[in-house]
Amino acid sequence: MDLFQKCFDFTRADLVKESGLYPYFRPIEENEGPVVQIEGKKKIMAGSNNYLGLTSHPKVKEAAIKAIEKYGTGCSGSRYLTGTLDLHIELEKRLAKFFGTEAVLLFSTGYQTAQGIIPTLVQKGEYVISDKDNHACIVAADLMAKGGFAEFKRYKHNDMEDLEAVLKRIPKDKSKLIVSDGVFSTTGEIVHLPRIKELADEFGARIMIDDAHAVGVIGKGGRGTGSYYNMMDKVDITMGTFSKTFASLGGFMAASERVINYVKHWAPALIFSASPTPASVAAAMAALEILEAEPERVTRLIQNANHMREGFKKLGFTILESETAVVPVIIGDDERTFIFWRKLYDAGVFTNAFISPGVPPGMAMLRTSYMSTHEMEHLDRILQLFGEIGKELGIIK
Ligand code: PMP
Repeated sequence: MDLFQKCFDFTRADLVKESGLYPYFRPIEENEGPVVQIEGKKKIMAGSNNYLGLTSHPKVKEAAIKAIEKYGTGCSGSRYLTGTLDLHIELEKRLAKFFGTEAVLLFSTGYQTAQGIIPTLVQKGEYVISDKDNHACIVAADLMAKGGFAEFKRYKHNDMEDLEAVLKRIPKDKSKLIVSDGVFSTTGEIVHLPRIKELADEFGARIMIDDAHAVGVIGKGGRGTGSYYNMMDKVDITMGTFSKTFASLGGFMAASERVINYVKHWAPALIFSASPTPASVAAAMAALEILEAEPERVTRLIQNANHMREGFKKLGFTILESETAVVPVIIGDDERTFIFWRKLYDAGVFTNAFISPGVPPGMAMLRTSYMSTHEMEHLDRILQLFGEIGKELGIIK
């Protein structure tokens, strides 16, 4: 059989495209944050992870431009060899100060950060224990560790009894890493960190939290999950991304100096990949400065998301509750979700359609997410259109 036969047989996306309902890979022509232009028309963005709206902030743009002028457009090498700039070191120091950790290490993407940490630290005969709903980059990293003969176990999503049961089945003397998203990307839920910490202590495990959707969103001044629970020093490794709150591209891990030093010298994802570009680093640094100087942006973000949670519930929608910037609205079956998505799109609102197998069957959803720069008029327009279309499609009364 030809290797490519699966590609020829894969027609689901073509069929959805033919029906005009295909929601993916839509090119954005202009991006001001809460409003974007797609196919020549302005749309309210209700699906971005640009949580603090900083991708279009003048200071962030200026920092990126200045970095290009000073350092050029790329580093042409990995951190290990020719790709370390003073800019990388400066951002690492500033992030370490922000999180109150000994050290921080930058990677070129968040996805790569997980690949840099997990298979590097969890080696042959050691255990990585992962929430079933962790982000795809964690799963891929867990599988890489497994490929290196580590043991890979999963526990039911945010289910601490199941985590305990999994831990009980592992020999006590084995080295273990428990990994969880801090804020789960699809649902916006927050991990039960206090219980994870109790279990980690009882069973001798280390803790890693992926705070991609938590930094800039929860915790004191947006310091993420550890801070939300007042347990900053109890998380052994925090990883995050610059592609959301930090309005850029890149990833980072925050941990103790000894752990960072080890990963720095052993992680293929760091050693064999070019370092983040000067513009990316400078933009993330400017975003960090704004986050530190203007923590009210975080408060505003959550107020906006809370306004939407209340609004959707008042309209009669089923949503997934959380205290974060992600507000998933359950539509049900895949087809109606696509239709709902298209109607919103045509009316001027961009959301994200999540269908099976990404979510359980019957739980297809429009995952909405908010920014601190959304104005009330944007939010109320989104609610108005959801209400109208929801009634038309018989999802609400
Ligand atoms: N972790 C989580 C929870 C994410 O949602 C994402 C991005 N969607 C990543 C990691 C990867 O980050 P990046 O976009 O920087 O690769």
